[in-house]
Amino acid sequence: MRREVKAKCRGCGRIFLKKDLNRKGYCSECAMKRMLNVWKSLHDKKGYWYEKWMTGMIRWAKRMEQEKHKKKRRRSAESRSRRKKG
Ligand SMILES: [Zn+2]
Repeated sequence: MRREVKAKCRGCGRIFLKKDLNRKGYCSECAMKRMLNVWKSLHDKKGYWYEKWMTGMIRWAKRMEQEKHKKKRRRSAESRSRRKKG
């Protein structure tokens, strides 16, 4: 007679057959919950990073716009000085 090895789930603490637990020692229910949690945190992070990225992009776009104006001014100043030299 073969005895089935039982083990406690690391998530909910219920006793399961060891073969029913995954490699990390969680039952399928807890594994699913953990996966959902990870996914949710990833999703939240994505939203966080997306917002950071968006504000960064807007800031960058504004800076680029300012740089354009600066460059125009700078370029004209350069050409003026070049004319003086030449
Ligand atoms: Zn569990």
